[in-house]
Amino acid sequence: MKYVSTRGAAPILGFDDVVLTGLARDGGLYVPQFWPRLSDENLRAMAQLNYPALAARVMAPFAGPSVQEPDLRAITGAAYADFDHPLVAPLKRLGPKLWLLELFHGPTLAFKDFALQILGRLFDLILARRGERITIVGATSGDTGSAAIEACRDRAFVEIFILHPKGRVTEVQRRQMTTVDAPNVHNIAIEGTFDDCQDLVKAMFNDTAFRERMNLAAVNSINWARILAQITYYIHAALTLGGPGQPVAFAVPTGNFGNVFAAFAAHRLGAPISHLVVGSNRNDILTRFFDSGRMEMGAVFPTLSPSMDIQVSSNFERLLFELYDRDGATVAGLMGEFREHRAFQVDRARWQRAKGLFSACRIDDEATTDAIRAIYDETGELLDPHSAIGVAAARAIRKDDGVPVVAVATAHPAKFPDAVERATGFRPPLPPRLADLMDRPERYTALPADLGAVEDHIVASRDARKARA
Ligand SMILES: *Cc1c(COP(=O)(O)O)cnc(C)c1O
Repeated sequence: MKYVSTRGAAPILGFDDVVLTGLARDGGLYVPQFWPRLSDENLRAMAQLNYPALAARVMAPFAGPSVQEPDLRAITGAAYADFDHPLVAPLKRLGPKLWLLELFHGPTLAFKDFALQILGRLFDLILARRGERITIVGATSGDTGSAAIEACRDRAFVEIFILHPKGRVTEVQRRQMTTVDAPNVHNIAIEGTFDDCQDLVKAMFNDTAFRERMNLAAVNSINWARILAQITYYIHAALTLGGPGQPVAFAVPTGNFGNVFAAFAAHRLGAPISHLVVGSNRNDILTRFFDSGRMEMGAVFPTLSPSMDIQVSSNFERLLFELYDRDGATVAGLMGEFREHRAFQVDRARWQRAKGLFSACRIDDEATTDAIRAIYDETGELLDPHSAIGVAAARAIRKDDGVPVVAVATAHPAKFPDAVERATGFRPPLPPRLADLMDRPERYTALPADLGAVEDHIVASRDARKARA
């Protein structure tokens, strides 16, 4: 598969280059040059596969010829062997025609493990062939940092540096990063805010000399391989509950639009999916878009579901590219307008087309807490606040068409114990793999929010490792 930019003016790349490249050179995001189509026969064969084998089959047409299905099978087998549930992504029935897709059985208890565990291994495979090394730098306010660290620990050709704002992440979140004992993992606690951390990462990527010297790479959700790895669980769930001729719907708690775009991709491939519900919290730019056709940036408010506290959903650009029939110049124009005027409007026909598949629903903190309590009372299941938004959105938008709705559970309730306890009076315990988290030794370096100090530290840490190797 070849990949093109959503803005139409960057070089066309193969899969291995796309995995190593973040943003396209024209500022766009890479997408496959076309969507392969799965026949009913393909889908029936897929329904027989276990999760890791299905993941390799789904990825194969997108990864070839750079990476072939046998290599993919080795990667998916190793990645998902470490999940805590034998089914990897189990479905649980919550009520009539309402299901929960549990995506929190990975090493860091959030759905991001599904993609990052694959991405870390793809890095090693591709870098070993090329005889290259990369340095990953990222900023985190919570979930992504720990999932990226777990994915890159002990990878032979990867050094990873994650910046977090000192004293401003929860203790569980900090410890999930700082207790990982691997020589290529480097945590930096910045004396500043999350924005300071993000500004430092941006500045490092803009420092061309540093960027080239360190071969910097990113693991954020604009990386196509992350979207690709997430397509599998939608196909898996759709084939488990539906099948050719029997569609299902999904309700997805959404921030950067990466997860729900993977659901869109599954639909485009031909999986039996008839409807997608986008759940937002108070930061409801996407809900407002689907209500009006107008994308308009607002202020970001902190909520009970911090991984969705976002106003600019970067992956939405990939949907825009499809709505405009892959016209990169038009997408570039709209994104330029968005940057300049903090808003853009899509024309009526495109907006109607989007609404043919998507609907959206805003669930504020109060409704989130009510949903956690209601589901606990009705079923005994504890939901984290993000997953509760998925369930509440599924119920709010429910159509009477007999189609089963699958709410996507993106995090384990023990990651957000305060919100769960407030709603139910019950504090969810950490699962066994993290039970001793509070007793493990921590490793991190505290640094001022100063570009020179951070770059010097990164160079020195990498050189020290090289000298020992
Ligand atoms: C990242 C995250 C989300 C949002 O996913 P996007 O792909 O950014 O839309 C939702 N819930 C949890 C728990 C997350 O970590």
